[in-house]
Amino acid sequence: VDAKVKSVGCVGMCHQTPLLEVCKRDGTTETFARVVESDVDRILRSSFPRKSWISRFASAANHLLDVVYEGQPPSDDATTPLETECGPVCDFLGPQKRIATENSGAIDPLDLAEYKRFGGFQSLRRCAHERLPQEIIDQIRVSGLRGRGGGGFPSAAKWQIVSDTQSDQKYVICNGDEGDPGAFMDRMLLESFPYRVIEGLAIAALAVGARQGYFYIRAEYPLAVTRIGEAIERCKEAKILGPNILGSNHSLEFDIKEGAGAFICGEETALIHSIEGGRGTPRLRPPYPAQSGLWKKPTLINNVETLAMVPWILRHGGEQYASVGTPSSKGTKVFALTGKVQRGGLIEVPMGITIREIVNSIGGGVPEGRTFKAVQVGGPSGGCIPAELADTPVDYEALRGVGAIMGSGGLVVLDDTDCMVDIARYFLRFTQDQSCGKCTYCRVGTKRLLEILDRMCEGKGKKADLATLESLCESVSQGSLCGLGKTAPNPVLSTLKYFRDEYEAHLRGVC
Ligand code: SF4
Repeated sequence: VDAKVKSVGCVGMCHQTPLLEVCKRDGTTETFARVVESDVDRILRSSFPRKSWISRFASAANHLLDVVYEGQPPSDDATTPLETECGPVCDFLGPQKRIATENSGAIDPLDLAEYKRFGGFQSLRRCAHERLPQEIIDQIRVSGLRGRGGGGFPSAAKWQIVSDTQSDQKYVICNGDEGDPGAFMDRMLLESFPYRVIEGLAIAALAVGARQGYFYIRAEYPLAVTRIGEAIERCKEAKILGPNILGSNHSLEFDIKEGAGAFICGEETALIHSIEGGRGTPRLRPPYPAQSGLWKKPTLINNVETLAMVPWILRHGGEQYASVGTPSSKGTKVFALTGKVQRGGLIEVPMGITIREIVNSIGGGVPEGRTFKAVQVGGPSGGCIPAELADTPVDYEALRGVGAIMGSGGLVVLDDTDCMVDIARYFLRFTQDQSCGKCTYCRVGTKRLLEILDRMCEGKGKKADLATLESLCESVSQGSLCGLGKTAPNPVLSTLKYFRDEYEAHLRGVC
């Protein structure tokens, strides 16, 4: 039979899964959303002319659904809307631009031949044979790529420092220790595009002169760990990794280190301690890892999404990447769009798009009858942006200007049923719980802050609480050693700034 059933990586439409797409010989496709077992027969009969094919595909499709539903499919009367018109799908996909998630929904994540057919490893091959390390870094500089892990530090500057630091040994690390509430960008990229992230890390290694790389992935992402592990093995078999990669004189070895679930291990120096076998706690910088990192050797650490951009940049050129976005924030950004929104999922948007376009156009707005109130951007280090400021563009500086940060890419939509004091308490509880305890302002300060918010939410707030909250936030932010503590007060400060009336209502006992 000249057809096959295959699974593909994430297409981002979490609100429509499981998706089943029938691609026909004439180039047309039909997409069926929220498919359950009882739909399969109907879909096959309408899609395939030959009866003999149907039973064969039915068992394959049902097997895939079994995997999706973990053997417990919903009842037959579950809603199974058929996507017969472009409408909502085009609204969702139209404003997006795919770079890190290029070929989303088209490639079997572990099919190496298919990845190559779509241009995979072309960039690495060129870098290994034709480009000097400095030429690779220059392309990254031209692209304007900034670290997608949260800080937004220019990637080329970081690569340059590692490249310029003399050492007999250097390392590259892919930081896949994503742990923010509401964020699943790195997980999706690692699970759906393992070869792209491997290619990005390999190019980074050639650029800075490293021969050893690590994937640091949290153990709570077992599929990501498995896929990266299998992809590394297949790359070794295909001589894409190992000695003399792709017939060049470069050698590259990649290994995986599983994180044990501590949010703080996403911080570079804590991550390094963890790989070295120590407790995952941050240390003072300088020296920065780019000069003295893993085993005290120059080490380049980049986030998963940053690395997923790299093969595209080297294939199309830095200028083309820089043509997308705003003057200071180039390219695209992947967000996990969640919360009170009709069409949640994994999206990749050009920098410069506004928060309102994301919520209304891509996300379809808040549920009917509700009012859009705010978005929480950037996870526990980020802030809440009220609906009145939703025309703020996705841009590192613009987001900072309204008291939020880009963060790694969690974007939680809130409506009029959400209490902003409760939201601030939720995120603060997370950071308090994840504080490594090394410095007093973070360890004790976040605890005191949480006690005040707990008291307010229980209707036992005191008059002086708001002033105490503000001064404590200032102290914790100033006195903490690492980013976790420094940014922990952000959700409190931004909600105090824009939703002070809700804090005051709590103090008056009217909510
Ligand atoms: Fe640990 Fe918090 Fe200090 Fe960071 S700020 S080192 S997480 S105690």
